[in-house]
Amino acid sequence: MRKDNLACLMCNEEITEDNWATKLGFCGSAHYIEYMMEHRLWSSKNTDYSQEHMDKILTVDAAARIGYVQAGVVTSDFQKHVNKFDLFYPPDPASADFSTIGGNIAECAGGLTCVKYGVTKSYVAGIIAVDARGNVFKTGVYTPWGEESYDLTSLIIGSEGTLAIICEAAIRLKEMQQDKRTLSAFFSTMNESAHAAVLILHNGLVPLNIEFMDSECLKTVERYAGVTSPPDAGSLLLVEVDGSTEEVEESIERIKVIIEKLSPIELSLAENEEDRDRLWKLRKSLSPSISRIAPLKINEDICVPLSRIPHMVDFIGKLRERYQVKIVVFGHAGDGNIHVNFMTHPDNTGEIERIEKATGEMFEETVRVGGTLSGEHGIGITKQKYLGIELGESLVRLESRIKHALDPDDILNPGKILPDS
Ligand SMILES: Cc1cc2nc3c(=O)[nH]c(=O)nc-3n(C[C@H](O)[C@H](O)[C@H](O)COP(=O)(O)OP(=O)(O)OC[C@H]3O[C@@H](n4cnc5c(N)ncnc54)[C@H](O)[C@@H]3O)c2cc1C
Repeated sequence: MRKDNLACLMCNEEITEDNWATKLGFCGSAHYIEYMMEHRLWSSKNTDYSQEHMDKILTVDAAARIGYVQAGVVTSDFQKHVNKFDLFYPPDPASADFSTIGGNIAECAGGLTCVKYGVTKSYVAGIIAVDARGNVFKTGVYTPWGEESYDLTSLIIGSEGTLAIICEAAIRLKEMQQDKRTLSAFFSTMNESAHAAVLILHNGLVPLNIEFMDSECLKTVERYAGVTSPPDAGSLLLVEVDGSTEEVEESIERIKVIIEKLSPIELSLAENEEDRDRLWKLRKSLSPSISRIAPLKINEDICVPLSRIPHMVDFIGKLRERYQVKIVVFGHAGDGNIHVNFMTHPDNTGEIERIEKATGEMFEETVRVGGTLSGEHGIGITKQKYLGIELGESLVRLESRIKHALDPDDILNPGKILPDS
């Protein structure tokens, strides 16, 4: 790759020895060209790179509702920043306080608000990225609508860093909503919480969040977060609604009616912002909290069509019995995204074998009912051996050909997603 004759992808101005360092901010891509060259990113296999210096929010075009951001910006910093413009960035992974926009795009992160607003891919207008040969490219459509030839933005989103390195992104934003209310309901079983989620959506209501967690999560939360639940509670359902104050009030009333008909053990409405924050902090702390149950947490995040969540939570319950393994379940019930955490000890080989068998059966069943192996965490290394269950061999081969075309030397996250990459 040559250093001369480069033009900034954003402003088209030629990049020279003298001006490259000033090409930060809106014209940030030049900085990365330099950065990548300096660090000889393309020179070897098993390359490392750092996003440490790609941590700037470049600009927010409030009228166009687009934020331009470098890939290393922490998600919650970006969320807070755009709020100053009365805008908001809906994707809200529970890891928002430590994950980055680049990582979110690479994994197509989901999160708590996806039931209403969708996942990361719904918000990426375009990206500036670098391919495995060191070519910087800009993808996307920056107008409200538009037609790309091949939709390369979508190809890169969720590709887990295996096709290109994302340097910058143009992120679509939404107008802030006026109001929010959260309600919580304890049920005896996970099936009942799942059923409530199905009924809420089936009745035409589209809450901001519908989350559920099982009794093991409740015990953990009691132990580590000091939150008490009724003694016979088998699950907790959290539902949050946003919109204008009138819309919120109406939706919450309708949701309460639906839930009351299912005879919850307890139903309550968060009275103020503090109550609300406490519930969502509890939910967001769940993943790290349950890690304390056992030294090894094997976390799967299957996703099934909404109507099949009650079936799937029962199926997981049966696996727990049959294989005598400890499973902790929570998830984004409104998306059909169930986080299934097998808790064990790394030295317990017998149990790990049983977990493997249970996992295989769970994936088979997930695909059989029309679901997918991962709702948001991606395939990575651990799920690659199961990829064929969902895609079939010919599609796995097609994906391998795409990977090979973009990264012939297999230097971008080698060994991830595709079994033979
Ligand atoms: C406690 C906890 C809660 C979580 N909750 C959620 C949730 O609610 N929803 C959800 O979807 N996920 C969740 N996750 C998973 C994870 O946080 C997300 O997938 C997140 O998007 C990863 O972003 P990151 O910046 O941490 O990326 P990393 O973990 O650093 O990287 C993830 C992958 O993306 C690649 N990558 C990172 N940056 C780039 C880039 N700029 N260009 C190309 N490839 C890149 C990396 O090589 C790696 O393969 C959670 C994780 C934890 C630990």
